[in-house]
Amino acid sequence: MRLLANYTEYTLKRTRPRFLPTRLLIEPTSHCNLMCPGCPSKDLPDRKRVHMEMGLFRKLADEASGFARDVHLFVAGEPLMHPDILEMVGYLKKKGLRAMIHTNGALLDTNLAQGLLEQKLDYLSFSLDGYDAKTAHRYKPPVDFDRVIANVVSLLELKKEMKATRPFTIIQSLLFNENDYPDELVAEFKARFKDLPLDRLHRIKPHDWAGQTHRKPSTTEKQAYKHCFRPWFSLAVLACGEIVPCCIDCTGKYVIGDATRISLEEAWRGKRLAELRAMLITGEKQAEKSGLCGGCHMLYTKRLFGLPLEEMGFFIKERSRKV
Ligand code: SF4
Ligand code: SF4
Repeated sequence: MRLLANYTEYTLKRTRPRFLPTRLLIEPTSHCNLMCPGCPSKDLPDRKRVHMEMGLFRKLADEASGFARDVHLFVAGEPLMHPDILEMVGYLKKKGLRAMIHTNGALLDTNLAQGLLEQKLDYLSFSLDGYDAKTAHRYKPPVDFDRVIANVVSLLELKKEMKATRPFTIIQSLLFNENDYPDELVAEFKARFKDLPLDRLHRIKPHDWAGQTHRKPSTTEKQAYKHCFRPWFSLAVLACGEIVPCCIDCTGKYVIGDATRISLEEAWRGKRLAELRAMLITGEKQAEKSGLCGGCHMLYTKRLFGLPLEEMGFFIKERSRKV
């Protein structure tokens, strides 16, 4: 119902929607163990390179429990580097929220895997940009491909042993080059998880972090401008406490407020986010003036009833179980 309410307000182009967001994204930490070439967060200043304080995290979860359906524990950074990540998952669950994690998987040892299963994490997505060591290392240096595979297998074995239906587990890969995924390699990769409860393998086109990296959508991919739906559906909070409109803004280019000082509701209903929504509705030139959205892939993707086709497809697949 909340999704429908958010969608209605998005299509009605309300700059001050009455309904609060369905999803909250919280960045547990902006530290990361990898150095992906396209990641803008590697240029973060030291003052923003932090683990989120648990006091702030609990405040956000308390607030979100009044309106959100799920909390995604990821913006940038590697969530498993936060020393209290299991406590975070447990707290969200206690508050009745769906807890979701997106990780590069390198640090998922047996204790963490067991903890995530015991805390009943709802959704776990592994980011692995290649189905062999050479490709994965090219896009996510210095990833240890074999270690990540071993970690995923070990979590899945545990999940099977515990007869757990959660977390919904996927491996997500960015499709930089179709040639990286020949049929034989895909078959070989799938075979690694035979008889294990892996729910999905997902390959998506990479985005350019709203122009913060070198990658631009090609002219054949680029569709007519359409205002982005995210500021009507979700809100994000960086590890340093800055509230931003979406996960693309992992460096805080369009800060809406400081989560240690204002509530999420104040941020959602405030002038700053209303201004961004108005700019997005007005069109391409105004979106550029925001200093964040100009050229973002989300403004030029294929749509169905105003919503991006690829994300909708993912949303539907998320609910069907088959590798
Ligand atoms: S893209 Fe993700 S895994 Fe790669 S460096 Fe950035 S935060 Fe780390
Ligand atoms: S257009 Fe891109 S950067 Fe702007 S709010 Fe949407 S997803 Fe975020």
